[in-house]
Amino acid sequence: MQQMETSKPAARKDDAAVKLLKVAIDGPAGAGKSTVAQLVAKDLDLLYIDTGAMYRAATWLARKQGISTEDGEAIAKAASEATIRLEPGDESTNGRTRVYVNDEEITHAIRSHEISDLVSKVSTFSALRKLMVARQKEMIQRGGVVLDGRDIGTVVMPDADIKIYLTASVDVRAQRRLKDLQALGESPDLEDLAKAIAERDHRDSNRADGPLKQADDAIAIITDNMTIEQVVHAIVRLCVEQ
Ligand code: C5P
Repeated sequence: MQQMETSKPAARKDDAAVKLLKVAIDGPAGAGKSTVAQLVAKDLDLLYIDTGAMYRAATWLARKQGISTEDGEAIAKAASEATIRLEPGDESTNGRTRVYVNDEEITHAIRSHEISDLVSKVSTFSALRKLMVARQKEMIQRGGVVLDGRDIGTVVMPDADIKIYLTASVDVRAQRRLKDLQALGESPDLEDLAKAIAERDHRDSNRADGPLKQADDAIAIITDNMTIEQVVHAIVRLCVEQ
């Protein structure tokens, strides 16, 4: 009797190898990177590092200290003198990373419309990028990490085991941002949000230092018609399969 052919499941990396993985998730604003990165990290028991939160914290600090958002050197100096601490989020933060600058909690403040608009300008400054990238490289030394950002696969972790480029159309991303901001009690206009996202993409993609760019060896995932669970599942599979 002939045996029916069944598709064999792919071989799985051993647990010790999974624990040391370096996973890079890049992409434009609102593609779902932080939610996805966080869930992938949780599933695989890895440390999640939200690098966007670090740039947002530096932007918040510049505003707080009355530093002009045109003055890259002064912003980098202020950030270098500050302690920026990231802690895992929980339900009360909507799952978002808790962020502290010199022990002051700014988790919600850095998600405001104002900071979202300013951050892509502030993050063009090379002096600040140099500082942030150096701090991120320190955090990833031992592996076992999932980082999301714009320059992770290209600059921060070019040796990542898995590189994902997560994207979605501007319209879908604007809808997602609207929900995020509504949860914070803001009521922005959808069209304005789409315009701001397109502008942010443009600035992030065209800056000289660490631009938003798909690494040559990154796998692109377009999330328009995917649920978060589907995206997470796809990435986890890529991480655990040999
Ligand atoms: O990911 P999130 O939207 O919070 O990032 C906020 C901003 O921080 C981005 O628009 C980008 O300008 C900047 N950023 C960056 N490099 C990273 C992460 C974020 O320049 N690795």
